[in-house]
Parts: sequence; structure tokens; C-alpha cells
Amino acid sequence: MLDKRKFYINGQWVEPSKKNDFDVINPSDETVCAVISLGSQEDTNAAVTAAREALPSWSSSSKEDRVALLERLYSIYERRMDEMAEVISIEMGAPIDFAKASQAPSGTSAIEDFLNQLRKFEFEEQLDDSDNQLIYEPKGVCALITPWNWPISQVALKVIPAIAAGCTMVLKPSEIAPLDSMIFAEMLEEAGCPAGVFNLVNGDGAGVGSQLTSHSDIDMVSFTGSTRAGALISHNAADDFKRVGLELGGKGANIIFADADEKAVKRGVRHCFNNTGQSCNAPTRMLVERSFYDKAVEIAKETALSTKTDLASKEGKHLGPVVSQLQFDKIQALIQAGIDENATLVTGGVGKPDGLETGYFIKPTIFADVNNQMTVARTEIFGPVLAMIPFDSEEEAIEIANDTPYGLTNYVQTQDPARAKRMSKKLLSGTVELNGKGAASGAPFGGFKHSGIGREGGEHGFNEYIEVKVVTGWN
Ligand code: NAD
Repeated sequence: MLDKRKFYINGQWVEPSKKNDFDVINPSDETVCAVISLGSQEDTNAAVTAAREALPSWSSSSKEDRVALLERLYSIYERRMDEMAEVISIEMGAPIDFAKASQAPSGTSAIEDFLNQLRKFEFEEQLDDSDNQLIYEPKGVCALITPWNWPISQVALKVIPAIAAGCTMVLKPSEIAPLDSMIFAEMLEEAGCPAGVFNLVNGDGAGVGSQLTSHSDIDMVSFTGSTRAGALISHNAADDFKRVGLELGGKGANIIFADADEKAVKRGVRHCFNNTGQSCNAPTRMLVERSFYDKAVEIAKETALSTKTDLASKEGKHLGPVVSQLQFDKIQALIQAGIDENATLVTGGVGKPDGLETGYFIKPTIFADVNNQMTVARTEIFGPVLAMIPFDSEEEAIEIANDTPYGLTNYVQTQDPARAKRMSKKLLSGTVELNGKGAASGAPFGGFKHSGIGREGGEHGFNEYIEVKVVTGWN
């Protein structure tokens, strides 16, 4: 068991001001894999003070210095990539091959993306042909609060643009999966990140999370997590007008027309189950044109039955466990709600897969004959559970897809390009993926409606950390 009780404040690993141990659980076997501390108001204050004191110097550092720091960080991250993957696999249950191929490399992808943005960014420019100068300054001291499902991706998508923009920060990673962030802090330390620019305090939402979002010395909060916490954070931040960026939940529709390519259904099921269903942009509602619906249900069933579930430590393309007992119980209750509301259980269901009685394992589950008012169609389940809904026309598909409080990512599968483009303009979401084509590096990610405020990644994600100033009479 790892002792990870210290925090990283002002360039030092320090003991918490008060003892408050918290166990990090390996979801594959329910054992304690590490102990961290949950911070107190004193720890939060110390980190915010360090970030505030480091701001004048870091905000006036040169672009070259920031680029050099991020390049050093990139090399260190590459060197420690396997260790990062192993820790993510242990703390949140990502199967090791998936952790190596997707979870861990999301950190270097973010560094690469924001290095590109920083290299081309002009921190000053003339406004048209006027004598006004636009000066782009760092927003200030940022509180960065992240979840457990794509842990280092969420952290890197905040920390890297904040550093690049010249901000200083306090990171509070998820208490459920904090170990990757602690390795990341070590990497920043080794890269020579100046003391106070990056600080890490572990804690829970009610403690360090709330202390940060209501702290008068914080200028901006960037949060990824549940819609519930996003609303609480917005209220907390309102008193002194902090800038708030929110990346929240989703309930994506995957609209499959009868003319879709032959792999569309299989791809959709796999995408829904990816990361054991624990992705905010998962296509969890599969809307299928009625003439193709029965065939689609059959393909979905076969795909789910051929999906294996096993320990995260084993090599291979199986699904791992979900992250915690709490998530396991929530998902079980939602599967039961689908059964109680008379959706057709095609495969899967409540209980654990055979042979996996220890660990938070879920049976890959498909519901058919779902209507969009059922609990399984309205609630973000965050597990490998797909709801299949038939539709008769383009208009009906759009209506069902948009009839949700969320608006993160929707998907369209059709071989008719005009229809694909028409649909994409009517869908209310920050991303629309056509025919399985993923977003390019630098694409902005974020949501409409209850899925959030602001964007992460690329130029838009960089600009979140920038404040603009106009100076007149510059010439
Ligand atoms: P969560 O909201 O419970 O916790 C996320 C983080 O916020 C944790 O660090 C937690 O300690 C902290 N937190 C909780 N309550 C808080 C409060 N009142 N004030 C301040 N901080 C608080 O979410 P989770 O269970 O860790 O993550 C799953 C959720 O995150 C899902 O709803 C998922 O859709 C969402 N998510 C969204 C995105 C996105 O980019 N849109 C990405 C990943 C996850």
C-alpha cells in the first residue's frame, strides 16, 4: 500500500496540517492500494497563498520559458508513461492495455496540443488599424477540480493551458483516483516548474473543493465532473464573480439510419462500453431507424455477448470494473429501473458477471424498446449500459436526441452526406461525430445546456485562461 499523504505546495511535498486519512481502493479487488490525506481549510489557504505569490513572476515569464518548461515536462512524461498507465489502471480500473493506449497518452496529447497553441499565440496585437492595443493576460490564480474517469486527461486539459497562459493554480484531483495527479506533480517538479505555480491539495468536494470555489483569492474555477457539483460550484463562485468553466455530464444520442455503414451498430456499442461506460461523451442512447431496428438489436446483442469483462491488471481488450462501490450500486439501481419500467432486457442485467464476485464488475447490458422518457434514457448511467430507441423520421430522431437536459456529444451514422450535415446542424451539442470519425487534435470539447460552460482543448481551451485588456493611444 502506498503512503501518499503529502500535498505539493509551493514547490515542496508537505504534510497535511491535520491528519485525515482516506483510502484509495483498487476497484478490481476492493483492496486499499494507497492512503491519501483529505486537506483542510489551512491546507487550501496555504496552496492558494503560494499560487497568489507566484503569480506576478510567472505571469510575466516569457513565452520561451513556458515552452521550454512544457517541452521538459513532455520528455519526463514520455519516460514515465508506463508508470502513469499502471497507476491509472490500479486506481480507477482501466484495463492495463487500454490505460497504456488511451488513458496515459492523453496527457502527452494535451501537452503537444497546448505547446502548438502557445507557440503560435500572440500575447499582444493591434486592433485593426486603430491606435488600440489588445493585450492578452493570464486570468490569474485558478482552482482546477477534476473527476476520476479520465483522470490525467482532465488534469492535463486544465493544468497545461493554465501554465501556458501564465496562470498559477491549485489542483484538487478526484479523491477516488488521485495517484496519477501525484505522479504528474512529481513530473512538474522535475521539469523545474517554479515554486507556487502548480500546487496540489487532495480532498473531497465538501472540503477542499468547496473551500477553493468560495476562496476570495481564486480568480477562476475550471471544473470537470457531475452536473450536480457543477451547479453547486457556480453558486459558490458567483459571490465574487470568478470565471467558471464547467465540463459536465452527457447522454449522447447515436442516430443510426438504415443506410449506415455495416459496422455502425457494433462501433456504437463498443463506443458506449469504452472505459466501462465511464465517459461523459459516451453514445448511450442508440436511436435506430425502425426498418433496421430489429437487425440492429441483434447486432448489439452479439457485440455485448462478445464483450469480455475481467481484472484491470490483465492484458487484453476486455472491460474492467467500474470505479467504486457507490458507482456499482448506482448502476445496478438504474439497470433495475430499466427492467421495472418494462424496457426489454436484451442481455446483461443486474448482478456481477460469472467468476467476478469480488470487484465492481458490471454485466455489459443492452436495453431495447426503450422510450426517451424512461429512466435509462434520461439518466447518465456511467456504466456499460446501452438504451436502444426506434425512430421513424429525421425529424423524430432530432426531437428525441435533443430531448435531454444534456448536450455534450451526439453521433450520426448515414451514408448520405447531405443528411449527415443537415442533422449535425440541428443537434444541440458541443460535438457531433459523423460516421465514427473522431475529433482532431486541437478540436474544442465541451457542452451545450446542462453539459457545461466553455471549452477544453485547442485554441478555445487555451483562451479560457486568458483575460483581454485594451490599451488606447498605443501609437
Ligand atoms: P463529481 O462531480 O462527484 O466529482 C468531480 C470532482 O469534483 C471531484 O474532484 C470531487 O471531489 C469534486 N467535487 C464534488 N462535489 C464538489 C463541490 N460541491 N464543490 C467542489 N468540488 C466538488 O463527479 P465524479 O463522480 O468524480 O465524475 C463523474 C462525472 O463527471 C460524470 O457526471 C461525468 O459525466 C462527468 N464528466 C464530465 C466530463 C466532461 O468533460 N464533460 C469529463 C469527465 C467526467
